[in-house]
Amino acid sequence: MTRAVPVPCTGCGAPLPPSDAPGHRYVNASPACWERYGLVLAAEYSDPVLFGTCHELSVDAYIAQHPGGAHPTRSVVVHLAGLHLALDREVAPARIPAERARLVQRVWDGPDPHPPVAWGPLTVLDLVAAAGTDRHDAVVRAYATEVWHAWAHEHARVAAFVGRL
Ligand SMILES: [Zn+2]
Repeated sequence: MTRAVPVPCTGCGAPLPPSDAPGHRYVNASPACWERYGLVLAAEYSDPVLFGTCHELSVDAYIAQHPGGAHPTRSVVVHLAGLHLALDREVAPARIPAERARLVQRVWDGPDPHPPVAWGPLTVLDLVAAAGTDRHDAVVRAYATEVWHAWAHEHARVAAFVGRL
């Protein structure tokens, strides 16, 4: 019996055996990576505490770590704005969806955000390993902080895009 050779995710680079699962229609994730992230979402949807504390951060970080391909600039920018709001301005998670809905109407001026050349070591694999455990929130927070840090070259433009709250 042969084992499938892991293939790096097109967005985050996480090495995963290929999957026949349907991928996301535009997020630049391999089907295998998107399938793994589904396990993280399932853990968050099934636990009201986790959903309230870290679901928004988890989504913003995962989507922001999968730019490129068919992923529209508008989506990348709005999720970067979510990371900025949560991590730089300490906006409460419950308020993030309304802020995203407001910002999705706004026009991003200038060239598209330039994706990072490298990510930190945390990926969907770390999220899955912690999914539903008492480490879930801490790992999501560390992952989101790493993803946001990788986008440091765009922090000023994202802050300007969000503007005053
Ligand atoms: Zn990925």
